Amino acid sequence: MSLPSPSELLKRAEAFHGWSVDLRRRLHEIPETKFQEVKTSSLLWEELKKMGISSRRIAGTGLLCEFGPTRSTPVVALRADMDGLSLEEPAGPFASQHPGKMHACGHDVHMAVLLGAVRLLLDLGEDLPFRIRLLFQPGEEGGGGAKRMVEEGALEGVCRIFGLHVWMELDSGKASLRSGAAFASSDGFEAELLGRGGHGAEPFKTQDPTVPAGELLGAFQTLMSRERNPFEPAVLSVPTFQGGESYNVIPERVLLRGTLRTFSPDLRRRLLARMEELTSHYASAWRCQGLFRLFRPPYPVLVNPPGLAAQARDELSPLLEPLEAAPTLLAEDFAVYLEHCPGLFFLLGNRNPAQDILAPLHNPSFRVDESIISRGSALLAAASLLTHPQP
Ligand SMILES: [Zn+2]
Ligand SMILES: [Zn+2]
Repeated sequence: MSLPSPSELLKRAEAFHGWSVDLRRRLHEIPETKFQEVKTSSLLWEELKKMGISSRRIAGTGLLCEFGPTRSTPVVALRADMDGLSLEEPAGPFASQHPGKMHACGHDVHMAVLLGAVRLLLDLGEDLPFRIRLLFQPGEEGGGGAKRMVEEGALEGVCRIFGLHVWMELDSGKASLRSGAAFASSDGFEAELLGRGGHGAEPFKTQDPTVPAGELLGAFQTLMSRERNPFEPAVLSVPTFQGGESYNVIPERVLLRGTLRTFSPDLRRRLLARMEELTSHYASAWRCQGLFRLFRPPYPVLVNPPGLAAQARDELSPLLEPLEAAPTLLAEDFAVYLEHCPGLFFLLGNRNPAQDILAPLHNPSFRVDESIISRGSALLAAASLLTHPQP
């Protein structure tokens, strides 16, 4: 029997749309932040059990499960992230029941999409040509969950991996992809300037760390304009500048905290090394001490291999836009999987002006056009059925 076409998969997913929406809403009500995804994980465990799939825990609150032919066939992995954000969701139907937590990055949709894909693939029964591994990953939002999953063996024996993200730059009813570098690398850095505080009236008796901190802020931006080739995209932002509390007390310490985004691992390494040098030199120029460090797990550049991207564009054409998606300076730790194994990360359009669904990700007003879930499920199921090159 031949395998269903992408359009046929979409038709089948639309037939159980109500089930998918219900799942998504139940997940939406119980958002949990990184590595706290306990209720989320139990809900998924139960749903998978109902489908006859047993799971095992991985990376703390994550789940790994497998189904499909037991004979030696390629193993294709499908990943959904599980965590919500520390944001207060406005009241409304099926809004978050966890005060101060919200699924504002669409990870509830990603999980519902993946369960829908499982249903489509299970329906193939004996015809399912590959073994399917499901990766429900905790801690995507700055937690480095993907790295932990990989370290605990999530990709062992896997030959391809697929995932997706809801996307506000793309209309609902569409899905897209960018071949090559698609999401930026992301580093969270801190530059700490340590001096000796004192009275604001007598700065000459202190080693004032606010002086090198102020200059360093400018020096970081000068680095971006003078030592970066303008054809190599990169962004550096320093949203946190913490010093003293008082108008007349010079602090002992100033902390700058920010993020660096690039599309080139070389450029990333070079800029980070120069930022460390600048921190140390600007501090010592003013008799202070400068410490530079990364304070969260770095996310690498997300690279969709062009060959596989072209194959997907060809074989999944009814579900996938023909045009390249624009690159983004946002980051995704799906990039970590792609460093170990070929695969693709799709964008699932969620922008719907007619329903006033326009608010960006990570915003309390973020909303989901639930009609997109079936398309996501069909896309992941179809991607897992992409033909493999003959060995
Ligand atoms: Zn996010
Ligand atoms: Zn996200």
